[in-house]
Amino acid sequence: MPIGTCPDCEADVHVDPDVDKGEVVSCEECGIDLEVVGLDPVELDMVEEDLDDDDDDDEF
Ligand SMILES: [Zn+2]
Repeated sequence: MPIGTCPDCEADVHVDPDVDKGEVVSCEECGIDLEVVGLDPVELDMVEEDLDDDDDDDEF
């Protein structure tokens, strides 16, 4: 299973073997969303959440 590194906490993040670039995974360690920006090796980048999204923070 491919493993990337969280750019925030540097934990190992397990990624689906058939994941595609642009997919978003979550860091198991700190919980932030990470976008897959590279596949060989797996590279992860933090997703900026200030974009217009359907999912407003109504969970609070
Ligand atoms: Zn992390």
